[in-house]
Amino acid sequence: MGLIVQKYGGSSVRDAERVMNVANRIVEAYDAGNNVVVAVSAQGDTTDDLIEKAKEINPNASKREMDMLLATGEQISISLLAMAIEKIGRPVISLTGWQAGFKTDSNYSNARISRVDTERLKSELDKRKIVIVAGFQGLNKYDDITTLGRGGSDTSAVALAATLGADICEIYTDVDGVYTADPRFVKSAKKLDDISYDEMLELASLGANVLHNRSVEMAKKYHVKLAVKSSLNKNEGTFVKGVNKVEKMLVRGVTRDNDVARISLCNVEDIPGKAFTVFALISKEDIGVDLILQSIGNNGRKDISFTVKESDLERVLEIIEEHKETIGAAEVKYTKDVSKVSIVGAGMVNNAGVATKMFEALYNAHINISMIATSEIKISVLVARKEAERAVNAIHDKFLLD
Ligand code: ADP
Ligand code: ASP
Ligand code: MG
Repeated sequence: MGLIVQKYGGSSVRDAERVMNVANRIVEAYDAGNNVVVAVSAQGDTTDDLIEKAKEINPNASKREMDMLLATGEQISISLLAMAIEKIGRPVISLTGWQAGFKTDSNYSNARISRVDTERLKSELDKRKIVIVAGFQGLNKYDDITTLGRGGSDTSAVALAATLGADICEIYTDVDGVYTADPRFVKSAKKLDDISYDEMLELASLGANVLHNRSVEMAKKYHVKLAVKSSLNKNEGTFVKGVNKVEKMLVRGVTRDNDVARISLCNVEDIPGKAFTVFALISKEDIGVDLILQSIGNNGRKDISFTVKESDLERVLEIIEEHKETIGAAEVKYTKDVSKVSIVGAGMVNNAGVATKMFEALYNAHINISMIATSEIKISVLVARKEAERAVNAIHDKFLLD
């Protein structure tokens, strides 16, 4: 008997009709003779609505209480889905994250799964029950509820597949699979039949939220076979798997990330250790710095620019203010009006022409680049936020329209 883990996202269970649709699909897999474990997200915009509710009362609520609140969204969807399966007449049980054995660290709002104690899950499967598990949540060592970060139900599903040794982990969502760019605003985007873990990890980390990046990381680590499919049709979907054999330059996808802010420290002293001083102060607080640009010195002074997540901007500005004597910048500039646009592809390594082609696409679209970063598998540029969608389209059509 096979074991399948399925995951249904918020849009797939947004109302009663969609819940019944999902229930029927689960029963189909069960009736084919498989054991089925399902991870589910909160319905529709429930998580966003809960965040709004919290803000009305206290915009600075503690992360612990936020997790307590947000975890309720998934409890609604698991029980409703289980009721739908009861109605069809199959044995089913819904379990919260903690009932299903999800243990995490204590990093509220962005917790990492440390282990899944599968005893309860296995005993329910032994009774031939369909098991519906709340995604996105777990319990830390203080027995407090934690959540895994936005989009984290994908990671719950992969963790279930990895620990139970499932034959496949199917992620059902509102698109047919992984596309060469977000099909919501790139009309010419094409579905990929397959993509390697590394490429998918980059795409997800650079803004393609079709998969939670940590779910891909975990799938790669534990060799979980992943498929991304639509919950609304029976189309093939995209397989995420081991290395692709690439012989020629191949850009697999274009993506943008709006969760970016840029800070510039102007006219700092051009001496050894300046960058170290600045970035040590920031990393000490566990804040990640992404793109970095340093000008060459002029009259003993230079500029250092870098990007952080938009949500970290305020804190970074505080740090700079607290240490303004040590840093010694004549002026500090910052903006949220930027986006990071990236191309991803394992085959682009050692190919100088790729970057040129990307810059040419932006030049033709009259879009200015303010920062550039390259690695073996990606090239990222920073552009004005209002230009980002146009930039993705321009770059996409240059590389991916045959
Ligand atoms: P779910 O609620 O099922 O988890 P998400 O909204 O998290 O769904 O993810 C699906 C969305 O991801 C799609 O609707 C699509 O707009 C977006 N997306 C971004 N980049 C891509 C991409 N490269 N391929 C497919 N979808 C993408
Ligand atoms: N409900 C959570 C969110 O909206 C988790 C998820 O959907 O994966 O982020
Ligand atoms: Mg998602």
